[in-house]
Amino acid sequence: MRLFSYVKDFGSIIFPRLCISCGRGLTTSENSICLHCLFELPYTNYHTQSDNDVIKLFWGRVDILAATAFVYFKKNSKVQKIMHQLKYHNQYQIGVELGNMYGKQLAEIKTYHNADLIIPVPLHKSRLRKRGYNQSERFALGLAESMKINIDTSILTREHATESQVNKSRYSRYKNMEDIFVAKYNPNYKCIILVDDTITTGATLEACTLALQKVGYTQIIIVGIAFTIY
Ligand SMILES: [Zn+2]
Repeated sequence: MRLFSYVKDFGSIIFPRLCISCGRGLTTSENSICLHCLFELPYTNYHTQSDNDVIKLFWGRVDILAATAFVYFKKNSKVQKIMHQLKYHNQYQIGVELGNMYGKQLAEIKTYHNADLIIPVPLHKSRLRKRGYNQSERFALGLAESMKINIDTSILTREHATESQVNKSRYSRYKNMEDIFVAKYNPNYKCIILVDDTITTGATLEACTLALQKVGYTQIIIVGIAFTIY
């Protein structure tokens, strides 16, 4: 252990590991984000509030058991920088790290603790091939690990690549999202945690929830890494 940490420290002299949020050098006990940045992240604490702004986003649209997101997402913020690294710069380990952290907190809350399966919002296979990984799946892996809940990426699939979502109203977005996702029913699972990276309009999660409910799943919980506020 000591030798490993020595090697890691020595390696960091030659190739310093830097905080992906602020660029400062990381110590051996820090992962991708330094403790200072972790301390400063805008945590929502929504998992402790049953009527939070994430679940309110889905009111009148889909019937879900609970919904939460780990942090707030704002333009030009630390969180935007982190999410950008996670999605476009191969820093997929951040997803796992954040999932691990949030999973520990979610496991303390009965509604979340009682779920028996975690499903990430799938990417279309062409997008997955291009990016090489699904960022939501990485977050889901971290959650699954710390919550000790199974993860299954074969139950929900994305059949069509969506066209650009920019400049579309919520209604036409919804029409566009309809039938994009297809789910398979497995009677072993009763309560599903559906996982996404950033929650903005909720259109993708709404479409995924409808696909899951269509085949017979009745209890759906939504968990995002970040929730967009303006
Ligand atoms: Zn930092």
